[in-house]
Amino acid sequence: MIKVDENGFYGQFGGAYIPEMLYPNIEELRENYELIMESPAFREEFDSLLKDYVGRPTPLFLAKRLSEKYKAKIYLKREDLCHTGAHKINNTVGQIILAKKLNKKRIIAETGAGQHGVATATVCALMGMECTVYMGAVDMERQKPNVERMRILGATVVPANSGSKTLKDATNEAMRQWINNPVDTHYIIGSVVGPHPYPEMVARFQSVISAEMKAQLKEKEGRENPDLVIACVGGGSNAAGAFYHYYNEPSVRLIAVEAAGLGVSSGKSAATTLLGKPGILHGSKTLLMQTEDGQVVEPHSISAGLDYPGIGPVHAHLFESGRGEFVAVEDEHAMQAGIEVSRLEGIIPAIESAHAFSALNQIQYEPTDVIIINLSGRGDKDLDTYIKWGNY
Ligand SMILES: *Cc1c(COP(=O)(O)O)cnc(C)c1O
Repeated sequence: MIKVDENGFYGQFGGAYIPEMLYPNIEELRENYELIMESPAFREEFDSLLKDYVGRPTPLFLAKRLSEKYKAKIYLKREDLCHTGAHKINNTVGQIILAKKLNKKRIIAETGAGQHGVATATVCALMGMECTVYMGAVDMERQKPNVERMRILGATVVPANSGSKTLKDATNEAMRQWINNPVDTHYIIGSVVGPHPYPEMVARFQSVISAEMKAQLKEKEGRENPDLVIACVGGGSNAAGAFYHYYNEPSVRLIAVEAAGLGVSSGKSAATTLLGKPGILHGSKTLLMQTEDGQVVEPHSISAGLDYPGIGPVHAHLFESGRGEFVAVEDEHAMQAGIEVSRLEGIIPAIESAHAFSALNQIQYEPTDVIIINLSGRGDKDLDTYIKWGNY
């Protein structure tokens, strides 16, 4: 049974390992999030924004040419069609409504590639809330268009200059700011990571993905459950959303796809479950790429959204318990899969999502199987990477 316990643990992973000064913020959220999320007023506003602003339900598309090639019935869950181009907006819409109900005036967020930053700046504009996004200085240089997108939307983007000046450092900076402004500020975390209740809260906002899958597959196939669900995992929010209503359906295989970067044993990888050991990162106990003495190892992936040294605690538990099957896909193979999907289906996927497609080459399944691949985002943001790679 995959379910979070009252202290935020999935098996041995999760919890809230936080400095004492963060305790009031986390406690306020923990005490209120379920009550608010389950209230009719919240549901009404959330459902209506998902429908008319985000563009839900996203289609479940039978990919005929891909199915022919891979000899199974393959459906794509089209999160790439969400407003702002990926699933991340499902979570930011949920959290901004929650923040309003908690009477917060200011929003802070961290971002790596800028996708979560853009999704946060978007909902802040929508709600007229002040928005500050922390971003590693190196990432700001690498992801200029997203920095400008956030600025156009009215957000302030603040460089994080510590450490490797990337996502981990931006997260540290956002947490530091939150400690200093506990009363009026809400911190919107972008994946199923961080201290309890964030991982479960974000998973529940994203669980709309698998709720829709069930209804849509029932309509198309006469059954709610596919044989496999495949999703890429950075922190793990699109995967958690795609798996959520299938956790306790043992006939559904849950395939989580991590980034192997230049190769699992190359030293330049983000294959956390293969390489990680239990440790604490950003407030929760999880699997973490680390040195013998517990220093975080810098990850590498060609896809910025998968370039994270940890993994959400629920995925660490799916891995340890064997409920999830974990696959690692190298940069080169992900890029090839991205081009293949473009050519076969007329859809240029985000490079994160391309990893999920490439997993079809690494797993066994039957020709009678129904497979859903969660197409987490579109490839517009990755055009530069596709062009630099060039092999098409
Ligand atoms: C951010 C991102 C991811 C990775 O984040 P998860 O929390 O693991 O889902 C995957 N795909 C896209 C398109 C993204 O923007």
